[in-house]
Amino acid sequence: MLVNVKDMMIKARDGKYAVGQFNINNLEWTKAILLTAEENKSPVILGVSEGAAKYMCGFKTVAAMVSAMIEDLGITVPVALHLDHGSYEGAKKAMEAGFSSIMFDGSHYAIEENIAKTKEIIDLCAAKGLSVEAEVGAIGGEEDGVVGNGEVADPAECKTIADLGVDILAAGIGNIHGKYPSNWAGLRFDVLEAINNATVGMPLVLHGGTGIPDEMVQKAISLGVCKINVNTECQLSFQEATRAYIEAGKDREGKGFDPRKLLAPGGEAIKAKVKEKMDLFGSIGKA
Ligand SMILES: [Zn+2]
Repeated sequence: MLVNVKDMMIKARDGKYAVGQFNINNLEWTKAILLTAEENKSPVILGVSEGAAKYMCGFKTVAAMVSAMIEDLGITVPVALHLDHGSYEGAKKAMEAGFSSIMFDGSHYAIEENIAKTKEIIDLCAAKGLSVEAEVGAIGGEEDGVVGNGEVADPAECKTIADLGVDILAAGIGNIHGKYPSNWAGLRFDVLEAINNATVGMPLVLHGGTGIPDEMVQKAISLGVCKINVNTECQLSFQEATRAYIEAGKDREGKGFDPRKLLAPGGEAIKAKVKEKMDLFGSIGKA
């Protein structure tokens, strides 16, 4: 059964670790992440962007697949199905389809409109027992066609949004989606600390986890980050393993063309990457 993120976030905050949000793209991706979470007794958040949901036929297909997979695989660890960077309309659709957690990304609106729309989404989610993530200060890079400039959030605005009743808060602290440029200045820990102080006890979210050095990730966790989003790294692991399989000519040996064989190395690579991240975030054995 799917759960919202409230309990897992409070436990992570108090236990000084973070729970990974791993974005899914298809059945293989979902299976790899769920099995890794179960094997390592870690809570897990499956992230789905609107683009990925569309690719997988729609929110209903995703919710049905994930719920059924939890049952068929006998998954016992807490699993949340979370809309990643939801639009106002997308958030409503995901709620109806059975997602257990919603991110409403109103960071591109002026703060007043972000507040009004976030409040509305919070009320709708509260009625269904879903958790809500809001964003302040656009996170840089490109995600599903949405390009942000990597703003640094204003701690006072973070407090205003946090006080609306969101469960978790994503704040821009110099982090970006996708691969980081070689001249990246690093995370703004001064800003993170100010946000953590302003929003006392609010579990914070770090987006764009790919390529942030491990010691920065651990420092961010010590400053209130309880959820870390991982997307690009799993994609790169899948790509590299799949490329190696084909370059080695294994798809032309025997029944190597069978999709269950062709996609297997990629799936194993995702499992290894997810385990590595769970270890780094400290969530292993916390389910
Ligand atoms: Zn993000």
